[in-house]
Amino acid sequence: MKKDTRNKKILERTINRLSVRKKAPLTGYILLIVFYIIGSITVSILARSKAEISLFGFPLPFYSFAGVCSVVSEICVLFMAFYYGKKGYFTALVLLIIQTPMVLMGVFVQHKLTSLPGIFGNLLTIIAITSAYINNLRVERFQKELRYQAVTDQLTGLPNRFACSKLVAALVEKGDKFAFVSIDINGFKGINDTMGFDAGNKILNEIASRWENIADNGISGTLDFISRVSGDEFVLVIRDYQLEEDILNTIKQYENVLHNRITVDDTDLYVNASFGFAEFPYDANSVDNLGNYANAAMHEVKRSKSSNHILRFTPELLKAERTIEIEGKIRDALKKETLFYNLQPQFNMDHKLRGFEALARMKDADGNFISPGEFIPVAEKVGLVDKVDEMVFRKAALFFGELLRKTGADIVLSVNVSVRHLMKNDFFDEICEVLKTSGVPADKLEIEITESIMIDSVDKALQCIDQLKARGIKIAIDDFGTGYSSLSYLNRFPANLLKIDKSFIDKMNTSDSSRQYVSAIISIGHTMGFKVISEGVEETEQIQTLREIGCDYIQGFVWGRPMMPDAAEELVVNEMKG
Ligand code: C2E
Ligand code: MG
Ligand code: MG
Repeated sequence: MKKDTRNKKILERTINRLSVRKKAPLTGYILLIVFYIIGSITVSILARSKAEISLFGFPLPFYSFAGVCSVVSEICVLFMAFYYGKKGYFTALVLLIIQTPMVLMGVFVQHKLTSLPGIFGNLLTIIAITSAYINNLRVERFQKELRYQAVTDQLTGLPNRFACSKLVAALVEKGDKFAFVSIDINGFKGINDTMGFDAGNKILNEIASRWENIADNGISGTLDFISRVSGDEFVLVIRDYQLEEDILNTIKQYENVLHNRITVDDTDLYVNASFGFAEFPYDANSVDNLGNYANAAMHEVKRSKSSNHILRFTPELLKAERTIEIEGKIRDALKKETLFYNLQPQFNMDHKLRGFEALARMKDADGNFISPGEFIPVAEKVGLVDKVDEMVFRKAALFFGELLRKTGADIVLSVNVSVRHLMKNDFFDEICEVLKTSGVPADKLEIEITESIMIDSVDKALQCIDQLKARGIKIAIDDFGTGYSSLSYLNRFPANLLKIDKSFIDKMNTSDSSRQYVSAIISIGHTMGFKVISEGVEETEQIQTLREIGCDYIQGFVWGRPMMPDAAEELVVNEMKG
């Protein structure tokens, strides 16, 4: 391959692969020539023949079949010109031109005027194939132009996203190793905002031409394909390398050319970019993953603001990416107040409603649910959990206050509170304020605190809890059994309710020790003056066992899943009726 057209050649191949029309087979071409020659020879034999055959008693001279054979030959040349491009057209032309003197000979030398229509026929066929050929040329040129536009970025002339994805798909199919580099120009939005779109476009053009120069001239020592996929995002595909060092070296060269000044509208500018890459097949083995992983690495470069602008993908980046993505969604849900809640019913052992636990729910912009198991830990990590707790509490309390006023039901609302929230200085005031605005009586509110959280910060937690207790609010210890509470600590803890974690309930009917463990928790809880509720009860057999070992309440799919507030209201109304 000539070095100076590498990028273009790869693009050219992509265009050809997009060709809508498949090449007609060579055998067809040969057969058309053979049929044409046989047809022409048959015409001249038949034209000279004086023989006759009899058809239904009528004499039919052989030469009258010459016209049929002549039409067959003409169709053959027409097909050639139509389906075999330049080669077909010129073959057809040569065949017709060779045949013409033979026809002329018939007229002038042998004085056979029957050959005269043959001359006109030949001429008309030449005109027909020439116009078919010219027309075909025009259509092909137009199609090529369209195909070229489909794979070319109009602004920079580089291959576009479509061309890039076609190439990457073909490389993945082939199975050879290659590196997919996702590139984003740093601070480009700022350039566009301050200098305007025209200047922004000029800068993109300048960057594109510098990079194209490296790719076209094989300066990097690897086989590169550079494309612009959108705005200020480019993708570089690197092939023909040995080690990771070679990839890094190539990327560095693309980075280095950015260090030279760019002058736009008399203003000197220096730009830089972030490069993230993933290698096929080691980091990712599908087109989508390659793109996503390289992007994850590139975004990490942007975020880290480190002086090293090149990063290879590692699986840890995905977690960071997901955390950031979820953080964005939480912030959005908090801002738009779209964060909502479900209510999961709790019952006593006679299936009488005790109350509801409010559970946070979040949907993303596409309407997909994100599980609290995923977003609550993120909210905790990034310091948003107090805001989440507060929004769920506020919304649920407003509904619950109204429900109590409407139905007069004697039920409790349980809300989950994170340690971060609990430790806030204004936590107690916030609870009191919500109780006031919602009209929920303090003794109808229960605050769930997870066991592990309390162990970490027991003294501060106890202070808050004492305040809550004094106000008449109930306290539940959530997920009990998963932490490492000591009995003395439990004894100091002024809770009302122990919530046995689902993991023990799950094993209770299959493992004797789990059943004994649950039974022991219930006994200890009762000894300390707590009520005990089992979480995550899914089967009727579990209810029976829990009755036998003296559990007080049940919360689980077996008697009620988390539901929307209107369904919870219906449940309360039905409960009150009967
Ligand atoms: P949790 O407080 O222990 O809540 C109980 C979880 O168990 C809920 O999951 C509930 O849907 C689920 N569950 C209940 N019964 C069953 C059952 O029979 N089978 C199964 N498979 N699951 C059952 P969810 O809603 O996914 O909540 C998960 C955790 O997220 C909660 O565990 C809680 O720790 C946290 N969370 C939920 N909402 C909030 C909130 O508003 N604030 C805070 N800080 N944490 C919350
Ligand atoms: Mg809970
Ligand atoms: Mg729990």
